[in-house]
Amino acid sequence: MGFDELRSAVRGRVLVPGDADFGRAAQPWNVAVDQQVACVVEAEDAEDAAAVVRFARAEGRTVVTQPTGHGATGGIDSAILLRTGLLNTVRVDAHERRAFVGAGANWGQVQAAAAVHGLTGLAGSNPVVGVTGYTLGGGLGWFGRKHGWASNAVRAFEIVDADGRAARVTAESDADLFWALCGGGGDFAVVTALEIDLFPAPGLYGGRVTWTASRLAEVWEVFRELTSDAPDELSVWFQRFQFPNAPEMVGLDVAYLGDPEQGRKLVAAIDRIGAPISDSRGAMSVAQLGDITSEPTDPSPSISRAELLTDLDDDTVKVLLGESVTPLLNIQVRQLGGALARSASGARGALRAPYVVYLLGLGLPQLRDAVNAKVSAVVDGLAGHIAAGKPYTFLAPGETVAAAFDAATVERLREIKSARDPHAVLRANFPVLDS
Ligand SMILES: Cc1cc2nc3c(=O)[nH]c(=O)nc-3n(C[C@H](O)[C@H](O)[C@H](O)COP(=O)(O)OP(=O)(O)OC[C@H]3O[C@@H](n4cnc5c(N)ncnc54)[C@H](O)[C@@H]3O)c2cc1C
Repeated sequence: MGFDELRSAVRGRVLVPGDADFGRAAQPWNVAVDQQVACVVEAEDAEDAAAVVRFARAEGRTVVTQPTGHGATGGIDSAILLRTGLLNTVRVDAHERRAFVGAGANWGQVQAAAAVHGLTGLAGSNPVVGVTGYTLGGGLGWFGRKHGWASNAVRAFEIVDADGRAARVTAESDADLFWALCGGGGDFAVVTALEIDLFPAPGLYGGRVTWTASRLAEVWEVFRELTSDAPDELSVWFQRFQFPNAPEMVGLDVAYLGDPEQGRKLVAAIDRIGAPISDSRGAMSVAQLGDITSEPTDPSPSISRAELLTDLDDDTVKVLLGESVTPLLNIQVRQLGGALARSASGARGALRAPYVVYLLGLGLPQLRDAVNAKVSAVVDGLAGHIAAGKPYTFLAPGETVAAAFDAATVERLREIKSARDPHAVLRANFPVLDS
């Protein structure tokens, strides 16, 4: 069988090298990742996804599912890339506070549909990130300290299994698979839709304040103060930025899920710092949460690395603040804790470390070596303050699931993978058997 047979088996487009749109369709969001796949299928419906899996099984090929390629890691030469972006139906049942979310929908779509009913999903910091990839990896955003992982809110997965059969998976119908999909990644099935809990949309106070780097020490002190004693409704993220051809900046991002006036009072310590370059804090709607960080959403080459931190003692401070950000673009420290430390449903489990540091640089050929060297230097410097079990969605190319889970969880994920996909037809961005 060749790809012509696949063309006649699906309704969506099948693109192979040489087709006009192949390059664009095969390219992941992180353009620093090389993705030389054999074919791209743009599924039009769940039956297309099932037909692709059956074809791959018969042909001894691998199916890699990616709505966007935000989490692409490479190493998938000769695979079939299944694009799920067209499966983007979002339906809200306001009475049951549930959303039915197609596998290709992003958080912006879900939040817009939920907002009509005064509801919210447990979205991440950016509206363009896909709900499915984010949730399969646990999903950690502004709602984490109050409600825990986004994967805690899943009630059901609609899937296609490794034999190409459709099924609805709940905690009751298939406890092992449900557990694995709740935070263990996309290695176990192709998800065609999710059913997730929605929550009453809270009042909201949030925004970003930035200063010149001369305020670094003061900003850090306020970050430590605010995060040492915050209610679960408040999250504060510390940021250092070095944008090309611009002076270095330092910033604080805040989100308070509650009465805006109360939120303003809770972060009043920020006003002690004075002379900000910008201050976007104010009352906002849940749909505007992505404006707080306004991360770039166009495809770009990036190198990133995240590490959980056990504390912010003076040694940690020396590493995080002691030298300039360059050649990185961003050093971010997110406050964790709250419900994240308490919630333990699914493979993701509880996250007890109080902070996560995230390093980001450009993966351009002329910068790559310097960025990697800086990342290594920071991580080495933080040794002794790094906790195991980092968020799966923060794993970077080159890492494995062993960096995201404890040994017992990795072992159980491997067992489930071997039982559910013995011919390795499906491949996630971080395959559990490669760890
Ligand atoms: C701008 C930006 C902001 C971000 N902010 C956050 C944040 O606040 N919190 C956070 O936790 N993460 C965040 N992330 C990381 C993001 O959650 C991960 O990169 C996630 O994997 C993206 O999912 P995706 O579907 O968009 O990406 P893709 O690369 O398309 O998919 C990622 C992986 O998910 C799996 N997958 C996706 N769809 C399916 C499916 N239908 N069936 C089976 N497996 C599937 C596959 O294994 C795939 O390799 C951010 C990423 C970006 C680019």
